[in-house]
Formats: sequence, C-alpha cells, structure tokens
Amino acid sequence: MDKLRTRFGELFGEEVSAQRYFCPGRVNLIGEHIDYLGGLVMPAAISLGITALILPTKSSKVRIHSTDFNETIAFNLDSLPTVKQKYWSDFILGVLLHLKQQEIELGGCDILIDSNLPKGSGLSSSAALEVLCYFMFHSVFAGTEPDRTQMALDCQQIENEFVGLNCGIMDQFAVANGKENHAIVLNCNSLEHEFVPLELGEHSLLIINSNKPRTLAESAYNQRRKECDEALKIISSHRQVKNLIEATLDDLKLISDPTLKKRTRHAITEQLRVQDSATALQFGDLIAFGKLMNKSHASLRDDYEVSCPELDFIVEELKSNPACLGARMTGAGFGGCCIALVDGSSIQRITQSLSETYKIQFKISPSFYGCKPSCGVHRIT
Ligand code: ADP
Ligand code: MG
Repeated sequence: MDKLRTRFGELFGEEVSAQRYFCPGRVNLIGEHIDYLGGLVMPAAISLGITALILPTKSSKVRIHSTDFNETIAFNLDSLPTVKQKYWSDFILGVLLHLKQQEIELGGCDILIDSNLPKGSGLSSSAALEVLCYFMFHSVFAGTEPDRTQMALDCQQIENEFVGLNCGIMDQFAVANGKENHAIVLNCNSLEHEFVPLELGEHSLLIINSNKPRTLAESAYNQRRKECDEALKIISSHRQVKNLIEATLDDLKLISDPTLKKRTRHAITEQLRVQDSATALQFGDLIAFGKLMNKSHASLRDDYEVSCPELDFIVEELKSNPACLGARMTGAGFGGCCIALVDGSSIQRITQSLSETYKIQFKISPSFYGCKPSCGVHRIT
C-alpha cells in the first residue's frame, strides 16, 4: 500500500478503488518573452508534477484535500459558488463550473491532491492543477479523455477569466501535450507545434530556484509589451509586418531609439535561437543547444533587460563549471528560476557549491530540482 492511498483512506474511508492521475509541471527551455510577439517557445513538460487520487461517491459533494495546504475543501454540485473564493481551490472550482456548463454530468467524489512541484516559482503548478482536474473529471464523469488542445484552451480561459490571472497558452498546452524525452516547439498564436527529441543521455535538466520574489516582473512585462508595440509601429510604417517577430536584423536600422532597438534585437535573435535549438536537438547536439541557452540568457540580460543580479549570478557560476553545457533564466524574469543542462553525475557537486556561493552573496539559499522531459497529463494504472 502506498502512502498516498493510506492517506486517502484516513481522510475519506474507502481507498481501494480510487483512480490515480498525474499532471506534470513545465519549464520553458528557450524562447523567452517572445510568445506574445508571435514567436516560438520551446517548453517541455517535466517529471515533477501533481498527483491526484479520485473516488466517485454517491453524494453530490466534491471533497478535495491538498497535502500542500493540509486542508480539505468541499463543494456541493447543486450549489457551486459562481464567483472565485480567492482560495487555492478556485482553479478547481473554475474547472467544475466550466465542465458543468459543457453539460458534462458531474457526480460527487473525494479527491486527494499531492504535489512535488513548487508553487509560485514559474513551473506552472496552477496550470498543472487546472489541467489535472479537467482531465480527471472529464475521464471519470464523461467516460472519455478530453481533446487535449481544447482542454488547454479551456483551462487558460478559466485561469484568465475565472481566477483572474493573466497567462498565455504555453503553460496549459505544455502540461496537456508533453511527450517523454521531447520538447515542444510551439507557436502560441496559431498553436502550430512540433515535437523535437530531447535525449539527455548522461545529462540532466537542473532547475535552480533563485527564491527571489518576482516583484518587478509584472510592471516590467507591461512596459516591455508597450515598447515592442512601439517598435512594431515604427517598422510597419516602412513595410508590412503583423508581429514584431517578423522583423529582421536589417530592420534594426529603422529604429533610432536605443531601448526599442535592443528589445527588437532580442525578439529577432531569440526566435533564431529557438529555430537553431530545434535543429541542434534534431541532431542530438546538446553542446550546441547549451551554447544557445547561454546566448539566450545574455540577450535577456542585456537587450531585453529582464534578468536580475541573482539570476545572473546563478548563470555565471554554472557556466564556469565544465559539467554545465548551458544555463539561462527561464520565465518572466526578475527572480524565479534558471534552467541548466548539466552532467548528471556532477549534480551534487554543482548544487553544493552553488548553494554556498549564492548564500554568501545574497543571504538566501537557492532550491534545486532535477527533472526529465515527460509526458502530459495521464491516468496512472
Ligand atoms: P505557478 O503556476 O508559477 O506555480 P501560480 O501563482 O500561477 O504559480 O499558481 C500557484 C497557485 O496554484 C497556488 O497559490 C495554489 O492556489 C495553486 N496550487 C498549486 N499547487 C497546488 C497544490 N498542490 N494544492 C493546492 N493548490 C495548488
Ligand atoms: Mg501559474
């Protein structure tokens, strides 16, 4: 008997026939801050994620316990609140309301949620929770798996409109559609995508959480979007371009403002790095991919200016270690996480040394998570 099942039994009584589901988190490997410019991103679903046990009951109650919060929340399906409660369960409530609207006949159930994905660190625990619950409710109560892309779109809408958090489609798409040992090259506008092999061999993906709160991220994000709009206006007054990503290095001479020039240069070069990364990975060339990760970080630091001393320090320390093929900040920036490609046998030495130097410099400790590219949400039998 595993621990989770035992806990389910303690909380809800019977546990034997509870079904188990898992949804991964995700990390963006390269293609940062260009999703909203019409560019390509390259996320991968990761082996860290959220697990749920679910058992349908004969009542009209949905009871959900989260081990992270050590708390049980209950909803009555006949009288679901129609506005958010400003609580962790909002993501689940939003999914229940959405599926009810789709006329899926929901029934009572008991659910235990357990996670090894850090919350609020940019690894998309919110998308994992929404997609997990959507997939699980659909499978249990409609008797079929949902269409994964529609599910991602619905969950994004729930997060945007019901929970009220602004997010693009990348997170939900990646955790819904991930493929083991693959990254996804995704156009967030058209949802066109392809999978590229990410065979790591003796290497590992190492995620380093700076544990610096991303307080500046939101205002800077709005500022960058404004700057990119201005740059697009300038270029499109000379020739027809719909998205900034269609600009070329040649177009840079049309922009005289140095800040707008830098923002545009990041967009153009980052898009090229995503394309080059896809090619490198098709050939299994992790060394070339690592170099592109390093360049992506430099561009985010110098041209897009969304890094911070903590992220720069982590990347520089890692780059100086021969066991690291490449490292970059990942996510919105101004804190949050870095992603690195490292020799698996050196992880312990790398994390120990980085912990020590980072703590001396910033008086806080980083956290580390090793992970592999994994498949999207699924039932575990
Ligand atoms: P991120 O998606 O980057 O992890 P967010 O702030 O978007 O950060 O989402 C974090 C929120 O998702 C948490 O505050 C909580 O409401 C919800 N959440 C994530 N994981 C869990 C969990 N295991 N149990 C309950 N709620 C969770
Ligand atoms: Mg989130």
